[in-house]
Amino acid sequence: MNEVSGNNINERWHLILWDIFAIISGVIVSIELLLPFFRHSYIKSLDNSFRYVFLMTILPIVVEGILLIVARALIKSDRISLAKKRWIVSIMMFTILAVPAFLHCELTAIVMLPGAAIVAGAIFANNDTTVVMTILNVASIIIDYVFLGITKGWNPTLLGNMFMSMVVAIGLCTLVIVLNNHTNELIDSINESNIIQRSLSVEMKKDPMTGLYNRRSFEETLENEIESAEQTGNNSFIAIFDIDHFKNVNDTYGHANGDVVIKSLCKIMQKKSQDSGIAFRYGGEEFVILFSNIELPKVINIVEDIRTEFRCYYFQFMLKDGITCSCGIAQHQQGESSKAWFNRADASLYKAKEAGRNRTVISE
Ligand code: GH3
Ligand code: MG
Ligand code: MG
Repeated sequence: MNEVSGNNINERWHLILWDIFAIISGVIVSIELLLPFFRHSYIKSLDNSFRYVFLMTILPIVVEGILLIVARALIKSDRISLAKKRWIVSIMMFTILAVPAFLHCELTAIVMLPGAAIVAGAIFANNDTTVVMTILNVASIIIDYVFLGITKGWNPTLLGNMFMSMVVAIGLCTLVIVLNNHTNELIDSINESNIIQRSLSVEMKKDPMTGLYNRRSFEETLENEIESAEQTGNNSFIAIFDIDHFKNVNDTYGHANGDVVIKSLCKIMQKKSQDSGIAFRYGGEEFVILFSNIELPKVINIVEDIRTEFRCYYFQFMLKDGITCSCGIAQHQQGESSKAWFNRADASLYKAKEAGRNRTVISE
C-alpha cells in the first residue's frame, strides 16, 4: 500500500492479515488432526500413524506456530519499517499456505493454495511483493510436482497439472498487478484532492486582493489568542488601522488607484508585523494586527513604523501629498471578551480620527 495513504492504515492491515492467516492456519491444522478419523485406511499400521502424526500435524503446527509468533513480534515492533513489515506479512501468508500444499502435493487444488497469498497481497498494492510472491508460488508448484514425479512417476496428467497451476499463478499475478495499479491511481487521486482541499481551506481564510487573512480568520484567531493569553498570562494587543479620508482618494484618483493604496498599506503591515503578530484585512480599508507575547513599547514602535512608512509612500498617480492612516491600540485585559477587547481598540481608533487623524491612540 502506498506509504502516503497513512501509516496507521498500513499498521492496522498488517494485523488484520495476521489475524486472518492465524485463523487459516488453525483451520488447516484442525483439518489435519480430524482427517484420520475419516480416512482410517491412512493410518492402518502403527508405523503409518506415527508418520502421519509427525508429518501432518506436529510439523505444520511447529512451522506455522513459529512463523505466526515471529511475524506477530516483528509486525508489532517499532524498530521495523513498514516496507519490511509488508514483506514479513507476505512471506508469512505464503508459507502458511505452502505447508499444506507441500504435504498434499497429490491434490492440484491444494498445490495452488499459495496463490491465495498473491491475491491477499493486493491489500499492499505493491508490485514488488506481488511478483516475488508469484515467483515463490511457481517455485513451490515446481517443487511439489517434481516431488510427486520422483515418488509416483511422471505422466502427462501430472505435467499438464503442473503447467496449468503455473498458468493460474501467473494469471493471478497479472490480475493483482492491474488491481495494484488501479489502487495506486486511486490513492494518488485522493492525495491530490487532499492537497487541493487543504490549499482551498487556506484560500478561504485569505483576502484575495491583499493576500492578508480575512475577517473570519481574524475572529477565529482572536478567540484562540484570548484562550492562550488567559492560560499563559502573556500580553496580547490589537491594533486597528483605518486609511484617512479614503473616500476622497477613490473619488479623486479612481477606485483602481484606491486598490493600489490598500495593497501598499497591506504590504507594509505584513512586512513590519511578521515577527510579532498577524495582519488581517478586517473590512474595506480597515486592517488589524494581532500581537502576541509582546510589550507595549514594541507594539507602538511597530505601529508607528507602519504609519510613517505609509505616510511617506510615493504613489505615482498622486502629484503631491501622501496618504495617512490612523490607528487604535488595545491590550487584552484578564477575563475580557473578544468583542469588548475589539470595541476598545475601535474606540481608540475613533478618538484618533476625532483628534485630527494621522495618529495612534492607545486604550487605557
Ligand atoms: P475616515 O478618515 O473617517 O476613515 O474616512 P474615509 O473616507 O476613509 O471613510 P469612509 O468609511 O467614509 O470610506 C471608506 C471608503 O473605502 C468607502 C469605500 O468605497 C472604500 N473602499 C472600501 N473597500 C475598498 C476597496 O477594496 N477598494 C477601494 N478602492 N475602495 C474601497
Ligand atoms: Mg473605515
Ligand atoms: Mg477610512
